[in-house]
Amino acid sequence: MDSEQLREYGYRMVDFIADYYKSIESFPVLSQVQPGYLHKLLPDSAPDHPETLDQVLDDVRGKILPGVTHWQSPSFFAYFPASSSVAGFLGEMLSAGLNIIGFSWIASPAATELEMIVLDWLAKLLNLPEPFLSKGNGGGVIQGSASEAVLVVLIAARDKVLRSVGKNALEKLVVYSSDQTHSALQKSSQIAGIHPENFRVLETDASTNYALRPELLQEAVSKDLKAGLIPFFLCANVGTTSSTAVDPLAALGKIANSNDMWFHVDAAYAGSACICPEYRKYIDGVETVDSFSMNAHKWFFTNFDCTLLWVKDQESLTNALSTNPEYLKNKASQARLVVDYKDWQIPVGRRFRSLKLWMVLRLYGTEALKSYIRNHIKLAKDFEQLVIQDPNFEIVTPRIFSLVCFRLVPEGNDEKKCNEQNRKLLDAVNSSGKLFISHTALSGKIVLRCAIGASLTEEKHVKEAWKVIQDEASFLLHK
Ligand code: PLP
Repeated sequence: MDSEQLREYGYRMVDFIADYYKSIESFPVLSQVQPGYLHKLLPDSAPDHPETLDQVLDDVRGKILPGVTHWQSPSFFAYFPASSSVAGFLGEMLSAGLNIIGFSWIASPAATELEMIVLDWLAKLLNLPEPFLSKGNGGGVIQGSASEAVLVVLIAARDKVLRSVGKNALEKLVVYSSDQTHSALQKSSQIAGIHPENFRVLETDASTNYALRPELLQEAVSKDLKAGLIPFFLCANVGTTSSTAVDPLAALGKIANSNDMWFHVDAAYAGSACICPEYRKYIDGVETVDSFSMNAHKWFFTNFDCTLLWVKDQESLTNALSTNPEYLKNKASQARLVVDYKDWQIPVGRRFRSLKLWMVLRLYGTEALKSYIRNHIKLAKDFEQLVIQDPNFEIVTPRIFSLVCFRLVPEGNDEKKCNEQNRKLLDAVNSSGKLFISHTALSGKIVLRCAIGASLTEEKHVKEAWKVIQDEASFLLHK
């Protein structure tokens, strides 16, 4: 590592990235390339001799950027946002610069301790109950994804219950969630060896705006108990992927707690909004929960990746995930004086991800973060109003945060044709390159999703997006 070369190239790379942000609106938001495009442009093997940074950056401009979908574009409204920020970027840069692998405390004490501190800050900001703080048995940890978060707590819960009922009971363990839960839970259950027939997907519908009904959970649990099965894990959502539905945590928690089930809450996207006092109500009941996760890389201005997971009982995690090989032994760990985060996650190695979260919190402060989130929600309200005013469209499910679920209304009652029209509209809008929205299905209806949360999005981008959608719709309807 030549520090003078780093200085020279580093400045140039920052210039390159700053120029990218300056011109981001000139790119088609959704990449328009065809599969395999890059194979045609790049050589078959790596160069034998060094090339220059200029040559590489030329290729980034000419060959890579055309194949990039611009998640940071102010007109990116698909999926959920991945809001970046200058602070988040600088934190990533610092983390890459230090390039430490903080698997245990001794491997870089600051990495472990900063992570504990910052996760405590966030827990306080969310007003999570005391047991989630690191001073007792609980604490927070940064995972790479919401999928890893649910996998580790599922494994912790599985091992906890198997320790009390015996290892042979694995076949009897039952997992519960609503049909709106992210597929990450199903993948985790498969990995954790849960019998596929014991994965209960409880139906939701428009009558509860796709939130899980506690009576359905109670019924399913009672039926499984009668059949000699062991209900052991419930995953609820605050902000489902399709429509941001919020499950009633307090009522679900009562059922989970009275049946000794592990209760996990996935608030991947909407958790960020709960730092605002007026949105905190959506996690009321979190005191009944064993683990809670949110993605700071979705809507908390922290560059990917940064999932925050809190547990009340860290020993459940470490009992399931810790190993103690000779080559990692050290005095602090042996004396149990420290947290070794390798025992809270699947890999051993881990990046210094708390730096970027710390920088986001320090460079913006919590009041500004709240106001950024409120602004996105206000822009979503504006978009919702535009949809409501157009008789060709309808809102499919009430907006709660900054996602608007809408569609072209069916002509007559022809739902099949309506779905086709909405799919066509989606393709037309996205292939315009002017914005990117995504879709989902709710009760068999194809629904268009406009998720506002990119850091650069302003009112004009929302208005322009709506105009493109309206123009494409009127072209489609009058063809
Ligand atoms: N949970 C919810 C509610 C999500 O919306 C998503 C992704 O959008 C996930 C989980 C999966 O997230 P990750 O990519 O962090 O695993």
